[in-house]
Amino acid sequence: MSKTINLASKIEKQLPAELVNFMQAAGEVAAAQGQKLYLVGGVVRDLLLGRTNLDLDLVVEGNAIALARQLITKINRGKITTHPRFNTAKLQWDGWSADLATARSETYAKPGALPSVEPSSIDKDLFRRDFTINAMAIRLTPGHYGELIELYGGRDDLEHRLIRILHEKSFTDDATRIWRGLRYEQRLSFQLEPDTLKLLKRDTPRLDTISGDRTRYELECILQEELPEKVFLRAEELGVLARLHLSLRGNGWLAEKFKQARQLSSPNPPPAELYLPILAYHLTIEENERLISYLRLPKALAQILRDSISLKASLGSLADPELTPSRIYYLIHGYSPPAITANSIAGDSPVARRHIQLFLDKLRYVKPTLTGNDLKRMGIAPGPRIKEILRQLHEARLDGKVTSKKEEMGLVEGWLGKSN
Ligand code: ATP
Repeated sequence: MSKTINLASKIEKQLPAELVNFMQAAGEVAAAQGQKLYLVGGVVRDLLLGRTNLDLDLVVEGNAIALARQLITKINRGKITTHPRFNTAKLQWDGWSADLATARSETYAKPGALPSVEPSSIDKDLFRRDFTINAMAIRLTPGHYGELIELYGGRDDLEHRLIRILHEKSFTDDATRIWRGLRYEQRLSFQLEPDTLKLLKRDTPRLDTISGDRTRYELECILQEELPEKVFLRAEELGVLARLHLSLRGNGWLAEKFKQARQLSSPNPPPAELYLPILAYHLTIEENERLISYLRLPKALAQILRDSISLKASLGSLADPELTPSRIYYLIHGYSPPAITANSIAGDSPVARRHIQLFLDKLRYVKPTLTGNDLKRMGIAPGPRIKEILRQLHEARLDGKVTSKKEEMGLVEGWLGKSN
């Protein structure tokens, strides 16, 4: 029989005291209720790898909501959100949080559909998971606190740096695991275990059974990785990216542009609003529309993608070194800022890029000082004329022909004189 591994001291060393105390309290409350409690998933994997992960996922054999209710009374602060349909709960206190779920098993009526779920044991709960390295648990019940449960070879796979599914039908049941597998492989610099790789290739067409909403979620997760381009490069190599859209490319160009996006956004990571239009940069308008509608992108994000593609069509004009600032302004204004930035990164022409940068840094903030009311006071009758004069003033300001209110007034008076 294999020796029980106890990770209590690793937990103590790696996790903040607040979370350690919470898990101990949770174990005690669960035991008092006659329930067994486990820490599961990514945090267990990362504890073994020595990586920081503060996302506590707890699984209880019994009733997660009953446990969460008593637990919040015991810690005497924070709030609890419950989902009775799934028998899950989230606890949030002092900036910390923990997810509690009831152990469950899953069966898939048809590939790609959401599974039917029923309450179950920790063994089955672990078996429904995506990869062996994510299918380990740590017991939190007093008396067994810290004991590692690894029924499917997760620790061995961690040691050999392998991403392995738990059973042959895993990708058929849920093809989003294909994206997840690439994400873990690239994040951790692991490798897909050979049989898993074979099955992944076999089941890649199953990605077509996945809803746009679920694919969008996986894409969002990828874009939150430190180096998302690595996942797209691998996805291209394995024919996975083509399932999302035939014209998307994971290549050196993308890697370079994502890197520039990070430099530009530093110290924050780039948001999906910037990464996504770069990923979709080479799509045609029609292809872009198909992607937007498949992924059911939220309105604002869809608009950014549309803006980015339509601004791309103006890049030829923006590459003219002789352009006046006002012309630059009129070519770019009205597009959403992330679409503009995406074009500055993704476009090929250094001149166009300089012009976009000028717009972003300066031109977009330029406004005439005179207002409609000022013009009325100068004797111009209310009506379309005022709008036109304001537009011309704006243009003069952009091109540096006037630089003060006084000069603007002089210019307007000149125009009025001419038209009288
Ligand atoms: P990460 O693993 O990316 O560091 P995480 O642990 O928060 O973050 P989640 O996406 O929240 O990852 O998933 C939590 C756990 O749920 C995973 O470790 C995995 O065991 C399981 N899981 C999530 N999605 C799936 C899926 N599609 N199929 C099977 N198991 C899944």
